[in-house]
Amino acid sequence: MNTDSSRVATPAGTDPGRSRTRTPVTVLGLGMMGRALAAAFLRDGHPTTVWNRTAAKAGPLVAEGATLAASPAEAVAAAPLVVVCLSDHASVRAVLDPVGGALDGRTVANLSSGTSGEARETAAALARHGAAYLGGAIMAVPETIGTADALLVYSGPRAVFDRHEPVLRSLGTGTSHLGDEHGLASLNEMAVLSVMWHVLNGFLHGAALLGAAGVDAAAFAPLAKAGIETTAGWVADYARQIDDGEYPPLDATIDTHLTTMRHLVAESEALGVDAAPPALIAAPAERAVAAGRGGDGYAALIEQFRKPSEG
Ligand code: NDP
Repeated sequence: MNTDSSRVATPAGTDPGRSRTRTPVTVLGLGMMGRALAAAFLRDGHPTTVWNRTAAKAGPLVAEGATLAASPAEAVAAAPLVVVCLSDHASVRAVLDPVGGALDGRTVANLSSGTSGEARETAAALARHGAAYLGGAIMAVPETIGTADALLVYSGPRAVFDRHEPVLRSLGTGTSHLGDEHGLASLNEMAVLSVMWHVLNGFLHGAALLGAAGVDAAAFAPLAKAGIETTAGWVADYARQIDDGEYPPLDATIDTHLTTMRHLVAESEALGVDAAPPALIAAPAERAVAAGRGGDGYAALIEQFRKPSEG
């Protein structure tokens, strides 16, 4: 299908970052995120076909102008770009594998979470049906979809991304292409989630410590936020050190950090709070010190994280 022939010029848009053409698009999956994606396409005037296993979830979108397809095959036939947002890759395969040859010539932009290996497998399976694949990752919550706060990243052939970028930008102006390798978007999602969950667990552990002493989480929140922001300020310098392979002890050594990490373990044990999270934090520092790297700066711990866990 010639995607260009299906585009219709729209009146001049008001947002310079947005597509000024109306391009048919299909959304498979109308969970919390899929509904937000379809609504954003509709807001930008793209003719939007939707399908969901539980068809009733399409009701409000149909009221806003979406077309409800009776099957995944009918939905795929409706548009050159098929945006998929299901629970995981197993559900993506369960929905798309039976569609078979009807995928020929389509581009599937898969925004469902999964590992980079699953993204490569899904890309290869769809290629056997003649479909191009863009791996995608949404680093945003549903209510920010379609705004400048929504960060969406894609990986896959650059030419395929370029062809569909104008309509994909309806989902968020923070849309970018990370590289040609299909798994790269999923891998970046995993890396960002690693950061976010470690930060959140640190906040919850700190709140549990203070809670054991009768301090409300709300009273802790401003200090916790300051700690997160201070740490965020170190990321760019640490990244440079990691890429250079040199870890000068500009502020504190791993030896100094380890002493305080042990305090955190002891405080947790004394208050009857879970001591496993700080023990997990101290473990790589213990290994680094045992290996004679206690005089290095903190970023030298990357060498511990590069190894698989023991046992
Ligand atoms: P929901 O649980 O709200 O929706 C899951 C969707 O998957 C529903 O449409 C569900 O259909 C469908 N589904 C699940 N299994 C199958 C199956 N076997 N066959 C057909 N359809 C199936 O999840 P979200 O919308 O929140 O998340 C979707 C994806 O987006 C996930 O991969 C998630 O990690 C990712 N994401 C979500 C974010 C969020 O804030 N919500 C943020 C960033 C990424 P049905 O309605 O019939 O159950």
